[in-house]
Order: sequence, then structure tokens, then C-alpha cells
Amino acid sequence: TTATPASDKTYVIATDTTFAPFEFQDADGNFVGIDVDILAAIAEDQGFKYELKSLGFDAAVQAVESGQADGVIAGMSITDERKQTFDFADAYYESGTSFAVLDSSDIESLEDLEGKSVAVKTGTQGAALADELADEYGFTVNTFDDSPNMYQDVVSGNSAAAVEDTPVMGYAISQGLELRIIGDKLSPALYGFAVLKGQNPELVEMFNAGLENIKADGTYDEILTKYGANEG
Ligand code: GLN
Repeated sequence: TTATPASDKTYVIATDTTFAPFEFQDADGNFVGIDVDILAAIAEDQGFKYELKSLGFDAAVQAVESGQADGVIAGMSITDERKQTFDFADAYYESGTSFAVLDSSDIESLEDLEGKSVAVKTGTQGAALADELADEYGFTVNTFDDSPNMYQDVVSGNSAAAVEDTPVMGYAISQGLELRIIGDKLSPALYGFAVLKGQNPELVEMFNAGLENIKADGTYDEILTKYGANEG
């Protein structure tokens, strides 16, 4: 056949802009993180080429939907709803969602958010969760395109809380962000690499095979350790 062998193709993989420790710019301006390193290790193991585009979460998801990117790795939660549009590779990280408030505030529970506004990131599981809970707890929802602007809205006192993936919020707090997680971890979720449904099946196969290999040879654990994100 005349089809281009998968190995000759440069896949376009989309990701978030700032979602530490999964993708972010380090102090030297290098784009790093668990997703970035896992993808690099898997591509090396499987021998495929790719170009990583840091677009923002919603934009990354949309880039795959519109065919402008072949895949997305962005701390993307595997959900039943998304499975209607995307094929996910095997999960590579266990996560969940948390509400966080200004550390100095007296907010202790979701009940305390009544009449206040809550900052969320467009297109995320956290945004969907906040929409679901808004009526029950009487808060309104403020939408942002990226995590730093969402956090800033709480720091500045405009929003009373932000909704973020628990490990990401925990990492930001460990780096000095003056927020505090309230309540339980909500919406437990697994992160997965995704392609558009029915497209690039070989990419999913390579991701799965590579993930298995980098788990077996210790690379996966080294990556998590490097970013202080070991599970369990
Ligand atoms: N895990 C969340 C989701 O999939 C958030 C991902 C992100 O913000 N990069 O919706």
C-alpha cells in the first residue's frame, strides 16, 4: 500500500499550558512535567516522532476534536462522556478534584460558599463538577482559560474558591500558593492519553506498549519521583 508507515509520521500532540507537575515551564523556561516526560519516554521506547503543542486544556481537547492535533496528554481525566468522542490509552495516573480557598479565609466547607463565586477552568472535570454543585450550595461559577488565572482570582479575593485537580492544587500549594484544600477529594479520576475516536489507533497501541515498558524498566517511577508525585 502507499500508506505512510506510522514511524515516518510526526504526530502533533496537544497539551495544557500550566498544569504543574504535569506540564509547566521550569525556572529555565524549559517545558517540563510528568506528561512531557512520559510522552518523551514512550516515544523513544516506541520509536515515533511527535511535536508537542502547549495550547491550554480546552484548546488541546478541541485541537484533537478538529483534527489539528493527533493526540492530547494534559492530565486529561478518562470519563464516560469523553469516551464518546475520544479513544483513551491505558490510564497513567490516579487523580481527583478538590475545592481550594484562600488559606487565610474562614471557609471550611462547600456550605460556606453560599452566595460566593467559584473559579473554574474551561472544559475541565472541575468545571463540570462546579456546575453540578452550584445550585445545591448556592455559589456562582467564574470561568478561566488556565490554572494560574483561576488561582489568581481566589488570591485577589474575587472568587472564594477554585476547583482544581487535587495533585495539581497540592503541588501549587507546596510551591507557595496560599490556598488551602477544603473537604474531600471529589470525582476520583484516572488520567489518560487520548486520540479522536477511531483515529490514530496505532498511536494508542504504541502509548500502551510504551507505558508498559517504561513501568517495567523503572522510567515511569523515576519520572514521578522527579516531580515528587509518586502514587500510593
Ligand atoms: N483532569 C481535568 C480534566 O480532565 C483537568 C485537566 C487540566 O486542567 N489540564 O478535566
